Formats: sequence, C-alpha cells, structure tokens
Amino acid sequence: MNRPFDLQGKTAVVTGANTGLGQGIAIALANSGARIVLVGRSAPDETVTKIKDSGGEAAVVMADLSRGDVAVEVIAQSEAAMGPVDILINNAGIIRRNDALEFSESDWDEVMMTNLKVPFLLAQAAARSMVAGSRPGKIINIASLLSVQGGIRVASYTASKSGLAGLTRLLANEWASLGINVNAIVPGYFATNNTAALREDESRNRQILERIPAGRWGNPEDLGGAAVFLASQASDYVHGTLIPVDGGWLGR
Ligand code: NAD
Repeated sequence: MNRPFDLQGKTAVVTGANTGLGQGIAIALANSGARIVLVGRSAPDETVTKIKDSGGEAAVVMADLSRGDVAVEVIAQSEAAMGPVDILINNAGIIRRNDALEFSESDWDEVMMTNLKVPFLLAQAAARSMVAGSRPGKIINIASLLSVQGGIRVASYTASKSGLAGLTRLLANEWASLGINVNAIVPGYFATNNTAALREDESRNRQILERIPAGRWGNPEDLGGAAVFLASQASDYVHGTLIPVDGGWLGR
C-alpha cells in the first residue's frame, strides 16, 4: 500500500525540541515512523519520554545553537546516533522585545545568529550530507507571521524571520534539482514560552484572540500535520513555499 505520509526508516533532526513547537513537531514525526534526533541546549527529557512511550526512537545531541561553529558537528553527531539525516527541522529560535529606538546591538546579533545564521549552516551541513550520499531530503524552517508582516518591538526577530523566508526560497531554487525540498511553516500565535509575555498582557491577549478567526491560541500539536506533510513523500513537488498554520490570521 502506498502511504505518502509514512516516515518509516527516515531520520529527522529537530532543533529546540525540549519544549513548545519543536516538541510538538518531534512527536508528530515520530508518530509517523521517523527516528528523531533532538538537538538543543536543554535536556529534552520530556520529549524523549513521550516519543519512547509511543514506541518511537529518539536520541539527543546537546548543542548551543547561538554559535555558528557547531553546525557541522551537530549533523555529524546526529548521524552517528541515528544514521544519515533525511529531514532537518530548523525550529530553535529566540525573541527579544524592545522599542526600535532602544534596541541593543546584542539583542540584534543574538537573534540573527540563532534564528537565521545557524539555521543556514545546519541546512548547508545537512544538504552536503544528502548530496554526498545521493539521498533526497527535506529541510523545514520554522518561520513566523513576521516572515510576512512587520510586527512591533521585535526588530531583530522580524528581520531574522523575514530573512529565513527568503533563505527558504533561495535554498529551494538551488537544491530542488538535487532532490532536496526546502520549505517553511509559518506558525500563527501558539501558546509556548516564546509568547508567554503576550498571553500575560491582558489587553494584548484579548486583541490577539479577537483577530484569530479560529478564536484560540494554537497548541504545539496543531503544527504536526504540516510538519509531517513537508517531511514526507507527499510534498515531493513542493519547493520554496511558506505554509501558514495560523488559525486563519493571515487570511483576515
Ligand atoms: P520555545 O521558547 O518554547 O522554544 C524555543 C526552543 O529553541 C527551545 O527548545 C529552546 O531551548 C531552543 N533554543 C533557543 N535558543 C537556543 C540555543 N542557543 N541553542 C539551542 N537551543 C536553543 O518557543 P516556541 O514558540 O516553541 O518556538 C519555536 C520556534 O517557533 C521558534 O523559531 C519561534 O520563533 C517559532 N515561532 C513561534 C511562534 C509562537 O507563537 N510560539 C510563532 C511563530 C514562530
């Protein structure tokens, strides 16, 4: 039987999967049959337990993804643990909030490094391995509404996520002919650490909920379907696109 969403036999590397969206994506890919390598700076014990309890396979690679020089080693260690990488999910990301007039250089640099430069270097290391092994591959960047909208008080985040959208299209242009699909998911407003400050601000929380057609914040599990689609054979002819999973926000 042809099962286009089946990830059996595939190895997926997911960054920042100890919590939030990365955890939701890692579990969804594992439930579809992929072996998962969880990469991050905090031990992803809860994610490992959830994957193993459902009969899946998970390994951990500890790495600080605010440093550009770790990318090659992260892919090498992931492959040592679980075999050649087939799927890379660039999920780890940070946000800094301040007025543009006050925004500091360090808040600019740290966000650009973790959200844009390191995802590029990880994609490059993964793609080099795929090309060297003559394997097809799937690279999925976790973008943001601020890949396509301006936002406010998050200058480096908007710049990094808008850059990630452009990078997704560039890499797709260069790598589609090599059998590597590069795409991005645009999550809307999800209830994670990243948005805790917004949800704690009563009026911002109300304004956001009023504007979401679905009328609720997203849960990490809501991203699973898009991630499995983009990681699977079902998306073999999908290149360089951004898929919103946003409760209808962008259509409004
Ligand atoms: P989160 O803060 O819960 O998760 C971020 C993850 O990145 C964590 O696992 C964290 O440990 C990891 N990380 C951050 N810096 C790291 C570093 N230097 N080294 C290693 N790991 C590091 O937030 P989240 O909402 O789950 O965010 C996941 C991704 O989704 C981010 O790229 C974020 O920008 C994006 N996103 C989130 C939302 C939302 O509404 N929550 C919306 C759009 C996009």
